[in-house]
Amino acid sequence: MNARATIAPETIVVGAGIVGIACALQLRLAGCPVTLLDRGEPACETSFGNAGAFAVSDVIPLAEPGVLAKVPGWLLNPLGPLAVRWRYLPALLPWLARFVANSRPARVAALTSHLAALLNRVNDDYAALIEQAGVGYLWRRHGALTLYRSESEFQAAAAAWQSKRVHGVLWRKLTRAELAAKAPQIAPVWQVAVEVPTWSHVDDPYLFSRGLFDAFVQAGGRFVRDEALSIGHNAQGRVAIKTARSGELAAENAVVACGIWSDRFLRQHRYRVPLESERGYHVTLPNAGVPLHHFIECASEHFVILPMAGGGLRLAGTVELAHRDAPPDWRRAHILVERAQRILGLFDTSDMSVWMGNRPSVPDTLPVIGPAPDVPGLYFATGHGHLGLTLAATTGALLTEQICRREASLDLTPYRLTRF
Ligand SMILES: Cc1cc2nc3c(=O)[nH]c(=O)nc-3n(C[C@H](O)[C@H](O)[C@H](O)COP(=O)(O)OP(=O)(O)OC[C@H]3O[C@@H](n4cnc5c(N)ncnc54)[C@H](O)[C@@H]3O)c2cc1C
Repeated sequence: MNARATIAPETIVVGAGIVGIACALQLRLAGCPVTLLDRGEPACETSFGNAGAFAVSDVIPLAEPGVLAKVPGWLLNPLGPLAVRWRYLPALLPWLARFVANSRPARVAALTSHLAALLNRVNDDYAALIEQAGVGYLWRRHGALTLYRSESEFQAAAAAWQSKRVHGVLWRKLTRAELAAKAPQIAPVWQVAVEVPTWSHVDDPYLFSRGLFDAFVQAGGRFVRDEALSIGHNAQGRVAIKTARSGELAAENAVVACGIWSDRFLRQHRYRVPLESERGYHVTLPNAGVPLHHFIECASEHFVILPMAGGGLRLAGTVELAHRDAPPDWRRAHILVERAQRILGLFDTSDMSVWMGNRPSVPDTLPVIGPAPDVPGLYFATGHGHLGLTLAATTGALLTEQICRREASLDLTPYRLTRF
């Protein structure tokens, strides 16, 4: 036998959001026969309406101490950056307790290093996929601007920015004049901006995800539209997925990439991964007519502005802790328009649409990537929270190394589900 023979095992990826699509495409490009299974059309859940950012500077975990101190104030405002549906609070308490436990300085330092190890390679991991899929026309590498109203507001975040720099993030503080030159639309009340030149965004995350999906199919990948009900092993020892309509699908490996719905398979195998929805909203304004280049982050109000094709805008962000199936509170989307107009001035809101999605979040902000310890051939790629679009290609690259038994480019121990 040729010891250098390529290992490319047959694999089923469950879930065709951006994470599952990127995993399926990477595995297919490595030569694996791949079936991608989704109960709906690809990229029509959380990956449909996100803010399109490759947020490479988000190396600080969400549970940093500075954030916890602000939570009580935020909760007093039902339309503030963070809202909790109080009836859901008892169910949320275990997740919240772990979130707080992750805010210890030593833990924040460790998590920052683990996040940076993923985020520092995002652009490289995406480059090959984007070229393969021919979606480079959607990828805008203009950087991001994070806005502060005042120097003191910036100073409150300065330690976090220093930590980012230590972890490899390039950034530069702009003067008001430099900001005006780069983005003249931004109102003078925004005194300080930080530019992150390596940040990039895609014009439309749905079209982008669909482009990667089409590349997967063109490369010989198979898509099955059906619901996975359970995952076990068949008499031949292969991983076997029971589906609602297509009977049993079997392969050497399966990857669960079902976003917030991954809990079904985690529970089935008795893994205690705290996975909750951090719900977020968007407003898309196709006719806004604002010719922005940079992605904009409004630090004080925790929302972002994505420049879309033809001067359109998408406003997105804020966190609502609620059951994933609770009815949306559309006021949280509409309020973003008024806030964006405080930055960019009045713009055309005709044909505006609103959307709500479920960020699949674990309390330590690290995605869950790697094999299931007690179920041979089963892998998880979930829990990407605010960073699913950003980390999809990297997740696919890391899992492909595992499944194809290639040399690991990163130790996956910090990301495995056994950490919970
Ligand atoms: C307002 C907002 C803004 C955001 N902005 C950004 C951003 O700028 N950058 C960024 O990186 N991230 C961002 N995110 C987060 C990002 O959108 C998510 O992390 C990402 O979409 C998660 O992708 P996923 O593939 O894990 O899940 P999903 O996109 O939800 O896909 C899961 C798929 O699994 C399928 N599925 C579930 N159960 C089953 C089953 N039993 N059988 C078959 N199929 C099943 C579903 O149908 C779905 O298609 C944002 C999120 C929100 C809400």
